[in-house]
Amino acid sequence: MATCQCRCGYNARNRKSLSKHRSQCGLIQGDIDHNVNILLSRGSSSGCASIGVNRDGYIGGDDCGNDNGSNYIYDFHDNNIWPFSASDTNEDTSDVESHCDDFMTDDDHSATISSAGDGPMIYDEFNGEQNSTSSSAIDRDDDSSSSSQDSFSNSSLSCEDESELPGYDPPMFSTTPLFSAAYKLQIELHTLFDKNKASLTMYDEMVKLFNGFFASNEFSKMTRLSTRKKFMAETEKLFGIAAMKPTYGCVRLEDNTVATVPVFDAKAMILSLLHDPSIMKHENFAPGYDIFTGDVLEDCECNQVYGEIHTGDAWIPARNQHCGKGGKFMPIALVLFGDKSHTDLHGSLSVEPVSFTLTLFNRDARNLPKFWRLLGYIPNLTAGKGEANRQSAKDKLQNLHNCLSYVLKSIRDINESGGIRTTVMGQNVHTKVWIHFIIGDCEGNNKWLGHYPGNNSGTARPYRDCECSFSDMCNTNPTCMYTTLREMAEAQSLLQRNKKEGSAVFQQMSRYIIRNALLQPGLPMSDQIYGAYRMTPPELLHTSGAGLILYMFRSIAGTIGAGIGRDDLDRQHVRMMQSIQRQSERDFPRGTTRNGIVDGTKCQASERRGNLFSLTCIAHTHDGLILKEEMKLSDDKWRSLKLFLRQYLAMEEWFHSDNNKLEVQNARRKIAKVLKMLQELFPRGEGTNGYNIPKMHGMTKMQSYMMRFGCAMNFFGGTGESSHKQFVKAPGQKTQRRVSEFAHQTAKQYHHVMVTHHALTCMTLRGENNSVHDTAAMMHDRIVMEGKYTIHTSGGWMEDNTLRLNNNLLGVYLRDHAEISQNNTITGYTHARIFDKDGIQSIFYAHPTYRSGPWYDWAFVHFLEGEEELYYPSRVLGFVETLEGVEAVIQCSVRPMKWTTVEKKMLVAFDLGDKDESFVRVPLSSFVHTLCVIRDYGGEKNKYFVVLPKRGWGCYFGKDIMKSSNEY
Ligand SMILES: [Zn+2]
Repeated sequence: MATCQCRCGYNARNRKSLSKHRSQCGLIQGDIDHNVNILLSRGSSSGCASIGVNRDGYIGGDDCGNDNGSNYIYDFHDNNIWPFSASDTNEDTSDVESHCDDFMTDDDHSATISSAGDGPMIYDEFNGEQNSTSSSAIDRDDDSSSSSQDSFSNSSLSCEDESELPGYDPPMFSTTPLFSAAYKLQIELHTLFDKNKASLTMYDEMVKLFNGFFASNEFSKMTRLSTRKKFMAETEKLFGIAAMKPTYGCVRLEDNTVATVPVFDAKAMILSLLHDPSIMKHENFAPGYDIFTGDVLEDCECNQVYGEIHTGDAWIPARNQHCGKGGKFMPIALVLFGDKSHTDLHGSLSVEPVSFTLTLFNRDARNLPKFWRLLGYIPNLTAGKGEANRQSAKDKLQNLHNCLSYVLKSIRDINESGGIRTTVMGQNVHTKVWIHFIIGDCEGNNKWLGHYPGNNSGTARPYRDCECSFSDMCNTNPTCMYTTLREMAEAQSLLQRNKKEGSAVFQQMSRYIIRNALLQPGLPMSDQIYGAYRMTPPELLHTSGAGLILYMFRSIAGTIGAGIGRDDLDRQHVRMMQSIQRQSERDFPRGTTRNGIVDGTKCQASERRGNLFSLTCIAHTHDGLILKEEMKLSDDKWRSLKLFLRQYLAMEEWFHSDNNKLEVQNARRKIAKVLKMLQELFPRGEGTNGYNIPKMHGMTKMQSYMMRFGCAMNFFGGTGESSHKQFVKAPGQKTQRRVSEFAHQTAKQYHHVMVTHHALTCMTLRGENNSVHDTAAMMHDRIVMEGKYTIHTSGGWMEDNTLRLNNNLLGVYLRDHAEISQNNTITGYTHARIFDKDGIQSIFYAHPTYRSGPWYDWAFVHFLEGEEELYYPSRVLGFVETLEGVEAVIQCSVRPMKWTTVEKKMLVAFDLGDKDESFVRVPLSSFVHTLCVIRDYGGEKNKYFVVLPKRGWGCYFGKDIMKSSNEY
């Protein structure tokens, strides 16, 4: 007896009547037993949000199959939900919706695709009788199905028979039911949300909040919720946090107009960090560091590397300068970040937020926006001035410094009043505050230091912090003379004595004659000799991503022109990106395929690095030889290009890693070598400055700044830029977007965000947080199997497979079916999620049709052959249940591979075995780690490369740098 799989409970005596019934209820579902099973298994993979543990300890599986399977297909028998009570609706609709969401977002696009593919197979059996329904039946609505079904099959227009005609559709608005208040509320809410482009989950979350409130004991009809403004004012009063409010200063500009500069009080901002228990936790502090004294703990291993900020050589002198050695004062060193931020295309709605974080936090914490606070916004001073703006560059810069000085005023105030005394983590402390270093892009840094912008051979000092000349810029291993505060002071006093001579000196220094906000007396800085001039380290996002890599790509584009070769390269790039995206190992820089690989435009600085990685992979494949031909490189040059690409990627990663201190100190020669290769391999054309560019010079300085402030990740611009989202982009969206008011309103919105956050933190602390942020329970040492399917092995079972499993996998099933088949059934899975003991998840796909294409992941698999431990890069073909638990079916490489080889070479070629012995079943515990493997496109069959993941690149670069002090 066959059963309809929808909830109608239909039992049919034979297949034919079932099929008839099915066509009426609009379902396409398997009728033959194994097809039903296979479809169900796919239903289960869609519904794996609700997983249970089965007997074998694996999660997922049979019990969630039935419900979800029928739910997601079509649930019209239950949609008779009118009239309803409020609670019922919520559950019901959200249930269906969430399943739909699962279905839409999860991997089961493949399920629809393949079940549509089932269509012909099912209908063939009935000799085309049901053909017409195969596509339309899915979408057809219940009520009209029987009638329209008829008219559909009788497509001829012989409509004389009344009974053959379609019935009259009743007018839609004639039957208006009575609305309950709750229902009305929901309609209004939906309309409101649609109008305001609210996110889909927001509605459900809001409904949940309302329901929680209605159900609480305190709920009363008399409660009135406050308006936004009133609520904010009340909250501010309640928590006594009026100090967080921005103040709006009027700053006089050079042309005697006045600009409004919103600033936040530095003291209140620092305290909001120091007092927040969710922030001041040990796991957020830099390891090996005493936050109360600023001492660097000698015996800690993490202080042997240039890692966190306190490991840099600038830390102890700065700490001693501001706090002394006695440990009497608590050091609060600020990392300042300033970068122009746009919220519209024309750049007129822009502000320059000045934000900061504290050096006592570790890098992971500093990467989160929550650890950053705002000092103020420098408004767009050129807005509305237009082309005819006759202000001199000097005046414009002075205006900026006037505003900046006002923004930094509260830091000076703290310093002048002798620090802040407060209680931090239960301890009374006296803190001293100073600015440790400043992050910004090239342009912004130049402005802040009052340095000439741009670069031409006439500029005496193209780089902002040293005395190097234009022709020194291309030197890959320069010895820089950094400019000092004294030099600046002497120039100033000369200027006062003799204006002409003084101006000449300033010109020689390539600096504007301005009153610099960073040189004000009373502003505490980390460096007493060089001042701000040695506190603006170069950073990779702008130096490399928007600098050197861009020039490399332009050089390639210039050499190969815009012909067929370029097109071929772009195609290969798309193919390579697809391949890189479908890997179990994902630790690689992300690129983009919006445009051609070497096109400079429409590509963010960070994505360019991903494109460079893609180019590196392409260059190592057989098809990549097109690049060699197009660039007309000799064999030697081609080899050195490939070496260079690997080394350059690795060097960037090395800058961002924690490296042994001696290794960093000895790295100059190695860095110089890579940069030299860059200049030779990618010549810049006529009419350019060649490599006499500040960005090249900045790259050589990276190492010296790493020695000062720890690993270059500490002064990476990307982190500050992401925190800009909370300081500008998000609050800026809520303003009226008028240029003149923009800075003002953005500050106000951000203030609201802070107040709400403060209240929420307090609520969480008191355990009164009703909005439960249910983070999925962390899983440890677990394996979750998903995408279940079953194959019945009695009879000719191979042909009936609807997932279109890989032939090699089927071969293994056929070969081993005596061992893996239980009760004439083989149970398999299409992906596995493996959690290690730290709860870190690795996903392995072995999916024949994941979003329209196969996705077979690779794993590094451990074998014990005799006494010898061997490792094979292997392709995962599938997962199958056996008596010993779930095993993976894999295809191994011909020869084993050592991971140290991969670490040494970055890309390692191997052959994939295609003989019977290469196809084996292994327990999932033998998967050592995830792997990124790329096919040698255009090369021999079964040739592949293992690619070292990004986290290993730093060591790859540092491996041949001397780690002893002998070199110098
Ligand atoms: Zn220099």
